[in-house]
Amino acid sequence: MIRSPISRRSVLKGATAVGALATAPGTLRAQPATPRSASGPGAPLPPRGEFIIRGATVLTMDPILGDLAAGDVHVRDGEIVAVGQRISRPNVQIVESAGMICMPGFVDTHWHLWTSLLRPFVRADVEALGYFPVTGRLGVFYAPEDSYRSVKLGVAEALNAGVTTVHNWAHNVRSPEHADAELSAMRDLGVRGRFAYGPSQGMPDDQSMDHAGLARVKRDWMPGDGMLTLGICSRNVGNMSIGGATRGVLTIEMVKRDWGGARALGLPISVHTSGPSPIKALEEAGLLGPDLQLVHPLLTAAEERAILQTRGVSYSTSPTGEARRPAALGVIQLAELLEAGVKTSLSTDHTTNYNCDPFVAMRILFALHQHRIGSKFPLTLKRLVQLATLDGAVDLGLADKTGSLSPGKRADIILVRTGDVNTSPVGDPYEALVSLAQPGNVDTVIVDGRILRRGGKFTALDHAQVVREAHEAAMALRAKAQWP
Ligand SMILES: [Zn+2]
Repeated sequence: MIRSPISRRSVLKGATAVGALATAPGTLRAQPATPRSASGPGAPLPPRGEFIIRGATVLTMDPILGDLAAGDVHVRDGEIVAVGQRISRPNVQIVESAGMICMPGFVDTHWHLWTSLLRPFVRADVEALGYFPVTGRLGVFYAPEDSYRSVKLGVAEALNAGVTTVHNWAHNVRSPEHADAELSAMRDLGVRGRFAYGPSQGMPDDQSMDHAGLARVKRDWMPGDGMLTLGICSRNVGNMSIGGATRGVLTIEMVKRDWGGARALGLPISVHTSGPSPIKALEEAGLLGPDLQLVHPLLTAAEERAILQTRGVSYSTSPTGEARRPAALGVIQLAELLEAGVKTSLSTDHTTNYNCDPFVAMRILFALHQHRIGSKFPLTLKRLVQLATLDGAVDLGLADKTGSLSPGKRADIILVRTGDVNTSPVGDPYEALVSLAQPGNVDTVIVDGRILRRGGKFTALDHAQVVREAHEAAMALRAKAQWP
């Protein structure tokens, strides 16, 4: 019986007991979803109850249901059972929500959660201390416990900002324990998401990705309780480097090997396209398909966008980081993608030198669109909210579960206050969300029917402990890496 992938024993020994988990396949599935950490179990997740969210401005993002000026949402056992005006059921808890926007939780489609605790080292204004060189240099020192604490910090910030689904792009899977650590952190905090099993920092380009480890995670963790799904994140394709460091570069033959192993397991694939576009080479090799997500749509040609649309490939944009890139690396091609009918979604990428703020991400996209394209391609604020919710769920293959407030879907819901000083007096709700709101306005966060945050506070998670443990891990990494 595995007590925990993140035991105190494994931390003290440096956590390289690679074979330990493989001896007991399937046991993780049977374990209760209780929080674990090196300093002992935390509070369990809140139960899924039955309640009615009452009197909110409901933005369902469901194309048929539309919006309700003062609507109710009935949730039972983690499922949305009804959306409408004045829903009345006896003996059901009422969540009074007047003055709030009720909407689907944000879906973040690409985020390197393992880098979250590297904030003391990354500088936005010093090239040598940028995100790429720092994460590359310190990533090799990560023990599984560091991955666990970093992912926990990142997911806590995601929930704080109203993100209820996250695609954890884990490109520092150094051992089976590292994979289990990241998955444990996601499970312990109750977020929905995809775990993208990746390479490790510093891994030789000619080394194949760990398909056996990938198969083991699929066997031990999936489908579990259905909150987490699995995919891979790939090293870059072709000649790509940014910021003086790369995450590895694969030839087409190596791509066939790495992606083929994932596809044999029925798993989706994600890859960065920072730099010269690999789309034509991938198309010629027959490697494009609806199971593929590309990241950073900055340098595509019209012909390539047509190919992506035909093949059903999606693109994730991370506007907060992309807007900081040099002009030579391209511009965010949101209008071009939407016009071509390419599936597009929104992501945070990382939070080492900016924070998770889907409101700001939408705001930046709108500003850059107005700056570059304007009325040549009309972009509504509602379309941006759809990008951050339903379109993200479509991208991750989760639209049957999340992304809109539709009866039958799981209850991933946020309430955003409109009576705060930065949002009131409120007018159009989409204007409030895209132009005015910030994470501090997110009052309530519900994932799969569990109320994880209420009144702007975690209901069960000891966030002070999460912060303290992340700080301790960062300082220990500093010592281990002999960081100046
Ligand atoms: Zn990225």
